[in-house]
Amino acid sequence: MSKGFFIDTTRCTACKGCQVACKQWNDLPVEKTKNQGNLQNPSDLSYSTYKLVRMKEEIIGGKLKWLFFPDQCRHCLIPPCLLWAQNSDAIYQDEDTGAVVYTSETRNLKAEDIIGACPYDVPRRDSSGMLNKCTMCNDRVKIGMEPACVKTCPTGALNFGDLEHMQELANERFEKVKLTYPDARLLDPDDVRVIFLTAFAADKYHKYAAAFDPKRWKAQ
Ligand code: SF4
Ligand code: SF4
Repeated sequence: MSKGFFIDTTRCTACKGCQVACKQWNDLPVEKTKNQGNLQNPSDLSYSTYKLVRMKEEIIGGKLKWLFFPDQCRHCLIPPCLLWAQNSDAIYQDEDTGAVVYTSETRNLKAEDIIGACPYDVPRRDSSGMLNKCTMCNDRVKIGMEPACVKTCPTGALNFGDLEHMQELANERFEKVKLTYPDARLLDPDDVRVIFLTAFAADKYHKYAAAFDPKRWKAQ
């Protein structure tokens, strides 16, 4: 069954449980990082950080807001990275779940093309040229388990299940949240399997939060 996430950023507290669970399940090494003066650490996604809780402080309506954004691969319905790989077997989309998975064969691809194809700035490569990113915990999902990040989230910010159900959940929650936050939006809900709900414009959270954010394209 086709799967998806609904990520409700209005419920995220930046506890980073998801970030740690991702590292733990995928056996990813730690990185040497620097304190940036806020809760975000490390500074960006990397070959060994598939999930990153981004944090920004913004003055909105005259008040300080903390904006948290648990960033990851969107497992696009029609993945641009997969299209650029040109059926090379280095990247595949699982027929059952829809997960977009990178293999060790990615070291034979032109990394710049794959990285440049992703509208969300997700893939990263290691020193050998191999590309990596979130796998949707496809190994867990195939045996009926939730992704490690979702299992860990204590607030209900991360949800996972059949894509259709996640789309319904996202729409229901959006209708409620926009009563309090008129600028709330769902990010690219018709194009991705990982649907984010934000209380404010996407670019306030992260430059690449939404692929089709009008402000972002205008700026380019
Ligand atoms: S978000 Fe980027 S890396 Fe993930 S499937 Fe879409 S294009 Fe590929
Ligand atoms: S585990 Fe949930 S609440 Fe904690 S940072 Fe991740 S998404 Fe946010």
